[in-house]
Amino acid sequence: MRILKIISLSILFSSLGCGTQTPEDSDTKSVIDVDARRWPNPRLIPICFLNRNAVHDDLFDDLLKTTVNQFAHAGVAFQKWRDCTSDDMNDNIIRVRFRNEYNWNNSSYSYGGGRSKVGMTRKSLDGEGGATLFIKLDHKYPEGPSKKRDTVVLATRSVLLHEIGHALGLLHEHTRTDYHPGEPDCVDRDGDSREYPNEKEVRGERDYVGRPDYDSVMSYCNLTAGKLSKGDIAGIHALYPQLK
Ligand SMILES: [Zn+2]
Repeated sequence: MRILKIISLSILFSSLGCGTQTPEDSDTKSVIDVDARRWPNPRLIPICFLNRNAVHDDLFDDLLKTTVNQFAHAGVAFQKWRDCTSDDMNDNIIRVRFRNEYNWNNSSYSYGGGRSKVGMTRKSLDGEGGATLFIKLDHKYPEGPSKKRDTVVLATRSVLLHEIGHALGLLHEHTRTDYHPGEPDCVDRDGDSREYPNEKEVRGERDYVGRPDYDSVMSYCNLTAGKLSKGDIAGIHALYPQLK
């Protein structure tokens, strides 16, 4: 069984693995966009769904539970969590679209991938039907239980956490200039490595919170983390000090 690896540029989460994680002892690690517009009340961040029915109920419930539970660790909560209305299209709200483009019951399958605007905005992503955030998935879980099912579910949880992290103002951890300096950003178990040299350039205002966080869900190296790291939470608290 072969897993297709997908990779893309910009604000995107891909299915690349990593085998070179290094333990760290600091709790304050993250990279944030200091220019990102902040949500006025991070305890009630509005989120809605453009095509809720594109996702099977079991997967949607799993994503809801994961998102609510994980961001609760940072003190972040969400409101609405319903279908988007016409008013939502002109409002500051996370508008999620599910791109149902995978087939997880094939022997070769892909997972992961998404995109989000950074910080609070009413502007849509280009060509995404009004969405400020999208993730790629299949309508159904793979038949299981199986390792494949576990992998794609964890990856899909991770990509939604990752993209919502962008919506809060977090940036990519693996693009830090001090993230494995002089080495590939990520090396998976097969020994394949991947670098993101162009993204190492500083564009706009960003700030490093502490040292590199190799557990961050904001790193392409952690495709199946399924949870926020202590560094992710520290980054959210740097953006929203009222949550500390
Ligand atoms: Zn990203």
